[in-house]
Amino acid sequence: MDPSVASSLYSTTLRQSKCADGREENVAIIKVDKLEPSSASRHAAEVYYMTKMALDDEECPAAIKRMFTFEGAVKPVIHFEVDGGADENPNHIETKFLLAEMVLGGPHLKPEYRRKQASTSTRESNGSAKNVVERVQGSIQEATAGMIFNSDALGDLHDEATGVLSDDKVHGMWKHHAERYRSAVDGAPGLNGASFAAIRGADATSSSCSEADVILRRRPLLIELIKATTSRRRRNEIKEAEPDLHKHVTRVELFRNHAETATHYDTTIRCCDDANCKLGCASAPTASSWYNEGPLLRPFPPVYKDPARPGHYLSPELTLAKYAENGHKPQATRRGAPPERAGCAVLRADDERRPARALPGARTRRRDTAHRRQHDR
Ligand SMILES: [Zn+2]
Repeated sequence: MDPSVASSLYSTTLRQSKCADGREENVAIIKVDKLEPSSASRHAAEVYYMTKMALDDEECPAAIKRMFTFEGAVKPVIHFEVDGGADENPNHIETKFLLAEMVLGGPHLKPEYRRKQASTSTRESNGSAKNVVERVQGSIQEATAGMIFNSDALGDLHDEATGVLSDDKVHGMWKHHAERYRSAVDGAPGLNGASFAAIRGADATSSSCSEADVILRRRPLLIELIKATTSRRRRNEIKEAEPDLHKHVTRVELFRNHAETATHYDTTIRCCDDANCKLGCASAPTASSWYNEGPLLRPFPPVYKDPARPGHYLSPELTLAKYAENGHKPQATRRGAPPERAGCAVLRADDERRPARALPGARTRRRDTAHRRQHDR
């Protein structure tokens, strides 16, 4: 078997945590690893893609509308609870940049996409099998048990004239299986009776979402620009070749430095309350509650170590209880105490690699989340 015809499928799963009405929603985005590898930028592209769907597409699944919009507009406060893998780590410079950009209205700095706050946090990265996101993935496995992904599903993969493997045919076979997988997951039962809406998500070549296109195409240069280790000479080269990108990154980074509070486990980008702020906060939407008629925004709950389980952290429920006990006081951060931090636990996200049998020759790749924290600063 030629290893080049094998690729794992992966799904990025979003779960909207319980709101006042107690309902939950799940969305699964199905991807082929070799065509569209996972990264912080890929996740951000999907967020813009789904936001656009929620605003413009009448056929958009209700779950996506509910996650990304509120009364026909983007939600002013968004929070991602993740398992801390390398592609979504709250400490990673790419994640931080993308959060700041999201608050500023995205790659095009759209006023209608402005937010008051965007944040991400992780807890229990040591025990991901126990976290709720992984249990959501468990439901997907049930829906896809017994599926076989054979390499000859669409016939021979070689070019008839030359006899060599055809990239087009290989990619077509991968997409065929991704679609089969998506169909099986779509509508599958999730936790607490909420089913999955499964979508293909943003596509780098044919996406109708301009933000997603920009984010996916610019990534290699973006990473160079935001990394502290990139030389001045190289920065100047990029500045010359891509002046608009350089200008945009400088603008977002300036805002990020102004609006960021971070600990080892979470990053929050929050607009200040100065009505004359020159860095972009002044035009942010005002948000005083988590959702319509919901509780008031509070500083974001810190991560507490679990005394009963060394190396682990309290579950979200126990965290909230302890947080209330402590009078909702935010903890000090690396950069000193934040002014006031507030958040709305909206989404949990995770990727999970599909098992080895997903496609011929594929190897199971699970992230060792606890030991892959990245430090770029
Ligand atoms: Zn400000």
